[in-house]
Amino acid sequence: MRSLSFKLTLAFLIVGVAGAALVAIIIGVRTRAEFNTFVDTQLHVEMVDALANYYEENSGWQDVSTFIHKDSAFRLHDARLILLDTNNTVLYGFGPDNDGKPYPGDRIPPGLPVEVDGKAVGTFILQPDNKTESYTPPEVYSPEEDFLRNVNTAALASAGIAGLFALALGSLLARNLTKPIRELTAVTQTMADGKLGQQVEVRTKDEIGELATSFNQMSHDLADASRQRKQMTADIAHDLRTPLTVLRGYTEGLKKGSLPGSEKLFTIMHEEVILLQHLVEDLRTLSLADAGELTLNKRAIDPKALLERTGLAYIMQAEEKGLQLRVEAPANLPAIFVDGERMTQVLNNLVSNALRYTNSGEIVLSGTAVSDEIELRITDSGVGIAADELPHIFNRFYRADQSRHRTVDSTSGLGLAIAKAIVEAHEGKITAVSTPGEGTTFIISLPRYVRNNES
Ligand code: ATP
Ligand code: MG
Repeated sequence: MRSLSFKLTLAFLIVGVAGAALVAIIIGVRTRAEFNTFVDTQLHVEMVDALANYYEENSGWQDVSTFIHKDSAFRLHDARLILLDTNNTVLYGFGPDNDGKPYPGDRIPPGLPVEVDGKAVGTFILQPDNKTESYTPPEVYSPEEDFLRNVNTAALASAGIAGLFALALGSLLARNLTKPIRELTAVTQTMADGKLGQQVEVRTKDEIGELATSFNQMSHDLADASRQRKQMTADIAHDLRTPLTVLRGYTEGLKKGSLPGSEKLFTIMHEEVILLQHLVEDLRTLSLADAGELTLNKRAIDPKALLERTGLAYIMQAEEKGLQLRVEAPANLPAIFVDGERMTQVLNNLVSNALRYTNSGEIVLSGTAVSDEIELRITDSGVGIAADELPHIFNRFYRADQSRHRTVDSTSGLGLAIAKAIVEAHEGKITAVSTPGEGTTFIISLPRYVRNNES
């Protein structure tokens, strides 16, 4: 009901109805007035004729008041009648006492001459009454034409007024309706000039309101993406610099001969190179995922086997830390349609994270079927993640402990971002729940394998 089309229809309706009503009112009022004038004019002319006849028959005005009193047409309008002779002496009109006296007022109102044989013998005035306040006798006697002309003029005038009114009302409504669009346009221009993150006020719940809401969301996301990109460039530079500085120091020492080459030294240098290679590989994986070009060799895979393979790879490390590592999955779990290597990469990262942040207890890799999906869970009994950090852990280069950098324990902070990208490329979802001090669970939901997936 609050849609823009509804508002527009309503606006058109208001303008149309208001215009039509205005025309109807003006024409109604004008026609009534014109009609009364028309009736008065005719009455006036008829009375003048009757008076001229009387004058002719009686060769003068004697006893004209008796004549006027007797005639029903005159009597009906008695209070409005004034008859003057050629000297403006009152013959009738101000009560019997005034008859024969000069016209008592200053200005004689317009009347019609009473003519006999082409000679004026008096003036007959029909004063306006409350129905015809504006009645003045016509110069030329053609009441029908006057009436039609006046009504036409009134129709034209009312059409003009209604048009102006519709214009004013229409432009007011149009301005109101388009105001949010103008605001949006102005803000998009500001954004085009490079000022990201602009917001507009959401005033309505119609389509424009929805547009404003999605614009605000888009603007926010855009600003966020821009900030993340800058942050990422800074992070990459930082993470590249540390191993490069180490390598440069060592190679310079070796070149100058100040540093003797030893197995230990070469091992450190080799590790740094591996770190750099990992970082570059991780970045490449992410950029491929961003571009939607992550190639996936999907096959139907038993989730239990996948979990067991990952469990086996980390069982030694777990034992070294005195942790239990278990795989819990029913034997008949439906298959998932995934790239086994990529999924293993995801699970490896989750399990190595779990190992890193768990000092006692156990790590459980479990698989369950939930309606159309298969859920893989990696649960640890480790330090957990604080609630304010949880929303950020899938961000690139995010490390909960910001001071810890890859040189300390060879992490890049890209693991979860890559895991998310890979899972999403499989049309799946990855989430984390955590209770600080008690442990963390990562949940991967993947669509269950259906045979025609392979086509
Ligand atoms: P990388 O995996 O690239 O070597 P990383 O492990 O630091 O580096 P992620 O795997 O993306 O990066 O993890 C991001 C951050 O999330 C970690 O630095 C850590 O703070 C937090 N985190 C991840 N898994 C856990 C966990 N199981 N328990 C507690 N904190 C975790
Ligand atoms: Mg990790």
